[in-house]
Amino acid sequence: MSRTPALTQITEEEILFRETVRRIAQEQIAPLTRAMDHAQQMDPALVRKLFELGLMGIEIPEQYGGSAGSFFDAILAVEEISTVDPSVGVLVDVQNTLCINALMRWATEDQKTRYLPRLATDTVGSYALSEAASGSDAFALQTRATRPGDNYILNGRKLWITNAKEAGLFLVFATIDPDAGYKGITAFLVEAGTPGFTLGRKEDKLGIRASSTCELIFEECAVPATHVLGEPGKGYKIAIETLNEGRIGIAAQMVGLAQGAWNHAARWAKQRRQFGKPLAEFQAMQFQLAQMATEIEAARLLVYNAARLKDSGADFLKEAAMAKLFASGVAERVASLAVEIFGGSGFVTDYPVEKLYRDAKIGKIYEGTSFMQLATIAKLVLAKV
Ligand SMILES: Cc1cc2nc3c(=O)[nH]c(=O)nc-3n(C[C@H](O)[C@H](O)[C@H](O)COP(=O)(O)OP(=O)(O)OC[C@H]3O[C@@H](n4cnc5c(N)ncnc54)[C@H](O)[C@@H]3O)c2cc1C
Repeated sequence: MSRTPALTQITEEEILFRETVRRIAQEQIAPLTRAMDHAQQMDPALVRKLFELGLMGIEIPEQYGGSAGSFFDAILAVEEISTVDPSVGVLVDVQNTLCINALMRWATEDQKTRYLPRLATDTVGSYALSEAASGSDAFALQTRATRPGDNYILNGRKLWITNAKEAGLFLVFATIDPDAGYKGITAFLVEAGTPGFTLGRKEDKLGIRASSTCELIFEECAVPATHVLGEPGKGYKIAIETLNEGRIGIAAQMVGLAQGAWNHAARWAKQRRQFGKPLAEFQAMQFQLAQMATEIEAARLLVYNAARLKDSGADFLKEAAMAKLFASGVAERVASLAVEIFGGSGFVTDYPVEKLYRDAKIGKIYEGTSFMQLATIAKLVLAKV
């Protein structure tokens, strides 16, 4: 008999970690979810708690004060938290799969010593690539970095930046040479409060409303040359590679969201009675719940496989794109059906499914739209024919 574990068989430590995060999500996040969504505000005490629990520095090695976990652990955390609140899920996701990941791979020892302990204990990270005129075509960005002396001077605006309100450290992509196209793009570590750097408008959103999404404004903002992450002109590589990994996190967020919606729908179907019996005793209802559960399981397998490939150092580009494409579709369908299964109660804010339905839409948009995932997958699968 083969000893190779099944894709859903995770290790004892991973099971324990998942159970711990599940308990935290139920006990400490769920009671805050509705109020945070309503207020469009992440509870600062919750953010502090996430740091204390080690969930904001999952992959950071112990020597820098982190939890010394794997990428897979980060994925499990994002999934479990998102069953309860995808806004908190994306906070943890951007911190771990984009910001920390980028520093672990490209930071100098000095930069690691300076920032990783802070990211593990009290500093939220933010990842600033998109601009008003450059979304899917991210490398058409116009934020400019010039270097008249020792410092770089940043000028420009970033749009749609997650965690901006809470963040103390921003990974900002700017061009040092617009004529060089993507080869001018450079990544900078910019601290909140740096003169010349301010937050602009905070977006009023359809979903993940507790997650802050803001414009960043750079006006003659001086950033020391030692704050370049990686090499000047090589920021495009950092952007591409972190997003390739980060989108597995968004896929995990969507699997968690779908599972959360399914859990609510199944419980409701067992408890709500019509025509003299619980809804769950009608075959039409059972089949819907079965179909939803099957799609969630398929999405989870894609996500876990992509994360395992990433941890093992194998290629995962196609699998990550497929995971995000598929999981975001599943989340939208499952959350929509969950609203219907709740009937009128699904349409009001007294119950959690309407929020999950609103939250699901973002999965098809950020970290590469579904069309962009299809473009990546098409290129990779057709190249082999
Ligand atoms: C809530 C939220 C949080 C975000 N957080 C961050 C963040 O933290 N950091 C960050 O840098 N960015 C962030 N973003 C930005 C996000 O990544 C972009 O919105 C996304 O990449 C799409 O870019 P766009 O909005 O400019 O849409 P566009 O690129 O203008 O796309 C519009 C539509 O056109 C389609 N399209 C574009 N090009 C093609 C093509 N060649 N062929 C076919 N169809 C095409 C797209 O798929 C989409 O359907 C966030 C966005 C939101 C809404």
